Amino acid sequence: MTSRADATSWTAEVRARTSLSEHLLRLELGGPGLAGFASTGIPDEWVPLVVPGQFQSRYYTVRSWDGERLVLDVVVHDEGLVTGWATGDPVGDVVGIGPAKGSFDPPPDAAWLMLVGDLTALPAIARILETRTDLPTRVWVETPPGHEHLLPATSAEVTWTSPPGPAESGLAAVVEGIDWPDGEGYFWMSGESSQMRAIRKHLMRERRLPSAAYDVMGYWRKPGGRRRPVDPGPIYAAGRAAGESDAEIWARYDAAQEAGDEGSGQ
Ligand SMILES: Cc1cc2nc3c(=O)[nH]c(=O)nc-3n(C[C@H](O)[C@H](O)[C@H](O)COP(=O)(O)OP(=O)(O)OC[C@H]3O[C@@H](n4cnc5c(N)ncnc54)[C@H](O)[C@@H]3O)c2cc1C
Repeated sequence: MTSRADATSWTAEVRARTSLSEHLLRLELGGPGLAGFASTGIPDEWVPLVVPGQFQSRYYTVRSWDGERLVLDVVVHDEGLVTGWATGDPVGDVVGIGPAKGSFDPPPDAAWLMLVGDLTALPAIARILETRTDLPTRVWVETPPGHEHLLPATSAEVTWTSPPGPAESGLAAVVEGIDWPDGEGYFWMSGESSQMRAIRKHLMRERRLPSAAYDVMGYWRKPGGRRRPVDPGPIYAAGRAAGESDAEIWARYDAAQEAGDEGSGQ
């Protein structure tokens, strides 16, 4: 993803790095460069992160922001721009942070919540569970074992599944097998992009859900194949300005990535 840090960006110093598991690192960012940074208050909000020596950004969920300390949880995978940096010696480094955006937006009359995601979605799921305690909630999380302690204690019913392999996800099959609750609710899901595309089709064609009833976002793409990173920021802003729903915006984001795959020739 390729946006350049600009006038609406901040700098932050990495104050601490903690290992949450073999696969997840917590970064605590702070310092005077974050003055004026504002949370949207939307619990799945994310920021673009630019690490030292780079101009490309990657997107990370704001796990928490208390007005001084910004916490991001970073999945460690085989190789990557942020992964390589975060597993090195990042404490003391200064990073770039862009404006926060969020898309979790249940209809006011939603009677229940369903949350589904892989390890990259765990920070957002944890924050949604902390903030939305008013609705009966079911959660499906696909992670390697050892992440149960990262979800808050709530009345939500949580099902843990394991990914089929490293850098793989089988979440589409999990969702297709879900016993759907009665009544109108809100379905939120994020994780590997091809799984999300499959689920969007499932929700539209099999379940015939209105677009306001779900939010499904591709957070990462599995290694291999031709790919062209697409910055979701401008697509999101243009979609919002045009009055599009989140589902329509994320579908256009997928289409832009697919067009890149076909045309990139990489
Ligand atoms: C709105 C949004 C919120 C997000 N929130 C988070 C978050 O809170 N925490 C988080 O860790 N990620 C989050 N992500 C996903 C993260 O932005 C991507 O995983 C990103 O590609 C990681 O960057 P990188 O520099 O480590 O790897 P890249 O340089 O982007 O990719 C290098 C290689 O790794 C592969 N790869 C990328 N991500 C993964 C992965 N997760 N597992 C296996 N292989 C991978 C790629 O296919 C590529 O081959 C979010 C994404 C979005 C769009």
